[in-house]
Amino acid sequence: MRDQLLKQARRVVVKIGSSLVASRDSGLRADRIDRLAGEMSAVRSSGREVLLVSSGAIVSGIQKLGLKAYPKSLPVKQAAAAVGQSRLMWAYEKAFERLDQKVAQILLTHQDLADRRRFMNSRHTLTTLIEFGVIPVINENDTVAVDEIRFGDNDTLAGQVAHLVDADLLVILSDVDGLFSDDPRRNPSATLMSVVPEITKDIERRAGVSSSFEGTGGMATKIQAAKKVAEYGVATLILNGETPGLLPAVFEGTSQAGTFILPRGRRLTSRKHWIAFTLRAKGKLALDDGAVEALVRRGKSLLPSGIVAVSGQFGPGDAVACTDRHGKEFAKGLVNFSSDTLERMKGLKTADIQKSIGAQEYEEVIHRDNLVIL
Ligand code: GLU
Repeated sequence: MRDQLLKQARRVVVKIGSSLVASRDSGLRADRIDRLAGEMSAVRSSGREVLLVSSGAIVSGIQKLGLKAYPKSLPVKQAAAAVGQSRLMWAYEKAFERLDQKVAQILLTHQDLADRRRFMNSRHTLTTLIEFGVIPVINENDTVAVDEIRFGDNDTLAGQVAHLVDADLLVILSDVDGLFSDDPRRNPSATLMSVVPEITKDIERRAGVSSSFEGTGGMATKIQAAKKVAEYGVATLILNGETPGLLPAVFEGTSQAGTFILPRGRRLTSRKHWIAFTLRAKGKLALDDGAVEALVRRGKSLLPSGIVAVSGQFGPGDAVACTDRHGKEFAKGLVNFSSDTLERMKGLKTADIQKSIGAQEYEEVIHRDNLVIL
């Protein structure tokens, strides 16, 4: 399965972690960037389309600004990102130019993808670049991204990009070999997992412990990114980018390195994936057992009568999470009513709603088409 999916992968998003391309002491690692650019060009020459998500702006900026430690304050981080991003891009520009490969810089914030129109617009830009044979070099727009609009880490961003462009494969290059059965630093008999059929709770727990020094993510964010793209039919390969030649070798089938996470059989449509994994829930609706059953087993829309409690402040069109009686989030969808209106409608039958608050434009609180069971 792994070999076949790697062989078939046409559109590939490659994510490069900070620690591979920059260090706080010596700044950008131009030699690394040159080598990785060469390897990505080789992947492209094998008939594949490549999009690159590269970290390293902040770490490179830290060195250039002569900062002693990783900045805590947001403005300093943003200043470092601004200084570092141009340097990072320049290094990629030079490296790819030698290979006669065109590149383009794309900087995104979460907001760019949370708005469906802007999401579609970003998709068109990226696919047009690919048609021109360009490798887009993508990063978070760290200079303007404050907490509410941040992806937070580039594993998450790369996962969103894989969905955005309908990729077949997400490759996450970092300074570790992949996912181990246990923490290899503490347990010498820990083994590398070559194929992970599904991200289970157990896998998530194992991924929770490891982390690397320079990046923001560690293994946990990689596994979360893999889990989300798997729902969209995208496979993920976590690979050590420090080992020269590994990236082309796995595509040629001459290396079994890294951890390969299989995609799920069920594939959400782009819009439903966007609702489930790009949008952030602004509130929660606690549902009774009957409503949970109607949504999960019978494929129904959510009606006001099944709502037990409303939390958060949201307006029509916002994303909300649905919870069962144990508080477990089992669905997410776009609501037709504000939290204030739902507060008055909850638990009521349609006829009672007409009597007490008047006729409403919609009968459903969340229409089936706007609802995803997680
Ligand atoms: N966007 C950040 C940078 O380029 C990296 C975030 C991350 O490490 O995941 O410096």
